[in-house]
Amino acid sequence: MIEEGKTETIREEGNDSQKVQLDLEDEEKESSTSEQQKDIGLKRGSTGGKEKEIERADDTPMNVGYKIVDGIRYLDPYWAPWRTRTKGRWIGRKLVECFAQEFLSANKHYAVVAAKLGRMYVNGKQITDTDYVLKNGDSIEHWGHRHEHPILDCQIKFVADTEDLLVVDKPASLPVHSCGQYSLHTVLGMLRTQHNITGLRVLHRLDRTTSGILMFAKNYRTDLEFKETLKKGHWVKEYVCKVDGVFPEEEIPLQPANWNVGDGKTSVLKAVIDTGRTHQIRVHAQFLGHPIVGDQIYNSDAWGPTRGKDADYQKNYEELGVIIRDRHKMENWLEEVLPGYEEMMERMATGEVTPEPPFIPREQRPEKDSVCLSCNVIKKPPSRAHFSLNLHCLKYETEKWSYETELPDWAIEPHKISNEADS
Ligand SMILES: [Zn+2]
Repeated sequence: MIEEGKTETIREEGNDSQKVQLDLEDEEKESSTSEQQKDIGLKRGSTGGKEKEIERADDTPMNVGYKIVDGIRYLDPYWAPWRTRTKGRWIGRKLVECFAQEFLSANKHYAVVAAKLGRMYVNGKQITDTDYVLKNGDSIEHWGHRHEHPILDCQIKFVADTEDLLVVDKPASLPVHSCGQYSLHTVLGMLRTQHNITGLRVLHRLDRTTSGILMFAKNYRTDLEFKETLKKGHWVKEYVCKVDGVFPEEEIPLQPANWNVGDGKTSVLKAVIDTGRTHQIRVHAQFLGHPIVGDQIYNSDAWGPTRGKDADYQKNYEELGVIIRDRHKMENWLEEVLPGYEEMMERMATGEVTPEPPFIPREQRPEKDSVCLSCNVIKKPPSRAHFSLNLHCLKYETEKWSYETELPDWAIEPHKISNEADS
C-alpha cells in the first residue's frame, strides 16, 4: 500500500530527459495493467492490485450513506476489514511494527492501540499481544474505520455495453479502482454499488482527475485479446485538453483542435499519444509554456516564474520535488487534530486497555471511532481543482474496437469554465 502524498520523481527517457515528471497521486501507484508497465517500464506486483481489488470489493458494504454538498459527494465513514498475507520482509518482525509502516497516515500510536483493542486478527484469531511476531504464511486482518475522500457528484455514463466489454465515460475525480483512501468512491466501486455490476477486468487506466473513455473486459478472453493488442502497439488514444494561453498552430504532438477557436486566454487542444501516460501530455504542455488549466501539479508557480516552460525550473530536481510535494500536501489536506487526541492515543499505547470482544458485526460498531484519526480532525474543504483538470480521453481505438465520447463541456464553451482552479 502506497502512502498518499509521497513523491516520486521520474526523469523521462530520451528526448524528454530534461523534463521532470512527478507522481503525486496515489492512484498512480497501484494499477497493474500491462499498459502502464509498457509505458514507463515500472513493474509493480503484476497481480497484486487486482487481488486487493477483489478482496476489498467483497468486504466493503453496499449501502454506505453519503451527502452531496455544493456538487461534492461525501461518503459517510464505515467499518471495513483490511486483509493481507505476511510479506517476506515482514517475517520475524512484530505485527504492530509492520502495520504501522503500512498505515503511515494513521496516528503513530494507532497500530499498538488497535492491537490492544483487539482489532487485529492473525489466522482468524484475535491478537491483543503487541509483541506478536509474524510467521511465514500468517494471514492478517485488521478492522478499522474507513473515511474515503470525496468525489464530484456526477454519473458514470455508459458508452457501450456488449457481451465482452463495458465502456464508460469516466467522470473526473474518482480513481478507477481501490487505492489509498478510495474504495467505494472509485469507478469499480460505483458500478458495483449503483449499477450492481461486478467481475469487470480493468483494461487500461485513466488518472483520477482525468475524464473520458474507460474500457473494461467482461471475461478473461477479451482481457487477454486486448492486452495482446496493446503489446503489439496497435492502438491510438485521442485526448482533448485545455491549456493556458494562445497555443501556436504548428506544435506537435499537441494541436489546436479545429472545433474551437479559444477565448484568447486559453486554447483547446487535441493530443494523440503513443503511451497511456496522461502525465506525458501534462508535462509536455507545461514544457511548451501552455500548462493544462486546473493542473494542480504541473500548472503552478512552484515550477519557477515561467511555470516550467522549457524545463527552466531554476532549481534542482530534488528541491523541486520537495516544494511541489509540500504544496500539494498543504493545499489539499490541511487538517487540524482535535485537542486531547494525541494525548489519549499515547496514554492508550502505553497503558492498560480493555480489548473489544472479537468479531463485532459491522452493524453493531459505533458511528464514530474515538481512536480513528480521521474522526478527530477538522478537514479543510477540498478545492475544485483537487477533483478535475481539463484533460479528457475522447477516443480509444484498437484494431478491433473504437469508442468515442462526446466533448466535455469545457471544450465546447471555454468561456464558461471557471479559472478558479488555477493555482
Ligand atoms: Zn473515523
